[in-house]
Amino acid sequence: MVFRKNPPDTKALRQMALARLTDLGGVPGAATPDHEQMQHLLEELEIHQLELELQNDHLNSARAQLEQALNLNNELYDFSPVGNILLDADGLITKLNLTGVQMLGSERARLLGCKLGLYLAQHSRARFNAMLERARAEHEAQVDELDLQIDGQVSLPVQLRVVWIGTVLGWQLVLLDLSERKRMELQLRDSEERLKLALSAVGDGVWDWQVSSGNVVVSDSYARLLGYIPGEMSKNLSENLDLVVPDDKPALVQLLQDCITRKIDHYRNEQRMLCKDGRVIWVLSRGAVVLRSADGQALRMVGTLVDITRNKQTEAALAEAAKFQQAVLDSTSSQIAVLDQAGTVQQTNAAWRNYAAALNFESSVGANYLTLLSERYAVVPATLVAVAEGMAALVAGDASNFHVLEPLQCKCKRCWFTVKITPVQDSAQRLVVTHEDVSVLKQAELASQALANVDNLTGATSRQHFMSLADQELARARRYELPLVVLMLDLDHFKNVNDRYGHATGDAVLKSLVQTVKGVLRESDVVGRIGGEEFAVLLPNTTQDGGCALANRIIEAVRAHPVAYGGQLVDYRVSIGASSLTHQALFGELLAECDAALYRAKRGGRDRLEMSWNNPG
Ligand code: GH3
Ligand code: MG
Ligand code: MG
Repeated sequence: MVFRKNPPDTKALRQMALARLTDLGGVPGAATPDHEQMQHLLEELEIHQLELELQNDHLNSARAQLEQALNLNNELYDFSPVGNILLDADGLITKLNLTGVQMLGSERARLLGCKLGLYLAQHSRARFNAMLERARAEHEAQVDELDLQIDGQVSLPVQLRVVWIGTVLGWQLVLLDLSERKRMELQLRDSEERLKLALSAVGDGVWDWQVSSGNVVVSDSYARLLGYIPGEMSKNLSENLDLVVPDDKPALVQLLQDCITRKIDHYRNEQRMLCKDGRVIWVLSRGAVVLRSADGQALRMVGTLVDITRNKQTEAALAEAAKFQQAVLDSTSSQIAVLDQAGTVQQTNAAWRNYAAALNFESSVGANYLTLLSERYAVVPATLVAVAEGMAALVAGDASNFHVLEPLQCKCKRCWFTVKITPVQDSAQRLVVTHEDVSVLKQAELASQALANVDNLTGATSRQHFMSLADQELARARRYELPLVVLMLDLDHFKNVNDRYGHATGDAVLKSLVQTVKGVLRESDVVGRIGGEEFAVLLPNTTQDGGCALANRIIEAVRAHPVAYGGQLVDYRVSIGASSLTHQALFGELLAECDAALYRAKRGGRDRLEMSWNNPG
């Protein structure tokens, strides 16, 4: 569509209108209308005139908008980021945008009518002509990368896209500036080279694998690592993979496969490889995908190879040493656990594990030793604190070993262990805990203790043990302000029993008395034999009234239970003196008060109870 810059002036319009009227058969000035018609005609004309003016305004604004759009279009064309060139069917430039002009490094006026080939580097021209021919013959866009030139020098690498758009318009060319991409490619190649150099310098072998071709290029240090001279190794990947020992090859192949299919981007693998001279070395192989196709397949991978044979040898030696150490630990009957400096169990020996398994304990490794102690042993908090402090002192180097003074009793109640902790003289500051099973000794000790604490004949608590229990009970009652009553029992005319029935019968009576008394007492009460036929009874947490009631029940029970011995029934009686805790600081004072009360009971006729609090004097 063609737009006039300005609308025709009124004179020209009039002539155009008259000509149009004549064409339509109208004859100007042929009829003379009357006044009324004239008036009407004039009004019509004025309205028409206004309509025309309005139409004219509308046309003007539409034209302005179109001009604006055209300018914008031209600007977009000129300043688009790609060069746009039209060649006619003879290959001459008929149109090009500003970017195209700048890429060709000339002026628009000079370029129009020129052959584009002149602006291409010599080596690109044949390919360019071929592209034009193919685009026309095959009606398909052709794309290639070519170089532009200025004054015989390559000025710009470009990607050229050629489309044949018919005989009238010729070819449309789109040029994309590749200089930035080429610069980055060069930079990448440069940095890759530098990386390879750096890796070679530290002795790592470097490989570079073009996945599609299967070609692999290895660095000189890679070749030397495997005993080859540089350049001697095959460039074929599968031949290179054959150098991996058969047992280790499948894992590596799988990793490479996973990289190719995008399951992973890089891998790290330890493998054995065969050197040229037949040696087998351990290497650490690492690889990463550096280029993928649009659908994600790996196109190129690079990686390194490091000789880790010595590390592996050291590892093997360490594993041997650890095995030996474990065997030594396992051979000892003591239970041994190795702790880190935070007290976490790192290692245990067979004895430790067997003991834990027998008691259905969870594995100790990973647990805190102090937690294990509190969970598995009947330890008081003070012992735990002492062990924690002992361990801290060992770690700090302030002590060379630590013992828990008393054997610890296991929660199973059957076993006792001594605990000894010694530091390992190494940088990790580990600690070795030894638990020695002393259950047999401890049980023997307890048995003999029990023996000493119990009177052989009657089964009552021995005098010595009774006195110590009584001291503890008195202290407890005083501290917690609890009531406490003490009874003292003496058999009445026991000499007569002996005389009449014999000593053995007397013994049987003593035994029977203790059984009878125990039958009346509560679990917490204690009966002790403090003389030949004298017994004391501790009644903790018992009021004077409660104590009286118990004592009277003893007297009644004795009356009700004569002893049957040697075919005879021995009737016997007992007298009781009672005292209760008021002001007394020593148990002896309570006992003396009992004694006095007992004396009164004897004097008062025997077979009866007397209380110290009824006669404090
Ligand atoms: P009383 O009512 O005043 O206490 O009179 P008693 O005869 O019990 O007085 P005494 O304390 O003089 O006598 C205690 C007797 O207990 C003397 C002793 O032979 C006897 N005896 C002490 N120990 C034993 C023992 O273990 N077995 C036997 N069978 N008798 C013992
Ligand atoms: Mg006596
Ligand atoms: Mg007596």
